[in-house]
Amino acid sequence: MDIQTKARTELIDITDRIRASVKESGIKDGICIISTRHTTSSIIINENERGLRSDILEMLETLIPENKNYAHNQIDNNAASHLRAALLGNSATLPIEDGHLVLGTWQSIFFVELDGPRNRSVNVKIIKS
Ligand code: ZN
Repeated sequence: MDIQTKARTELIDITDRIRASVKESGIKDGICIISTRHTTSSIIINENERGLRSDILEMLETLIPENKNYAHNQIDNNAASHLRAALLGNSATLPIEDGHLVLGTWQSIFFVELDGPRNRSVNVKIIKS
């Protein structure tokens, strides 16, 4: 699945696209693994609410400031992006029951861009159980 991001750091709700992939697979019971192929992006599950999206980005800046004397910045000026990706993780795993992703009412799946804008690729693996 290709994603064109638009900002340096942003959360993109990919829930509908993942749901469509699950439907397309025809699998009724199984597991869906969503993973990013990049070292400066993440997959998280949380609530899609404007204030919270902004709070998550602010938390990243607080925990891992953009401008600090990182060793990796001597060869590639994006150490904060890698560190944020390491903190958030690169995949999410969800059950599939009765042909649907098992998500709570307030849960959405986000692709987190941490070094954009870029063309990104997300892998969706659906396994029958
Ligand atoms: Zn780098």
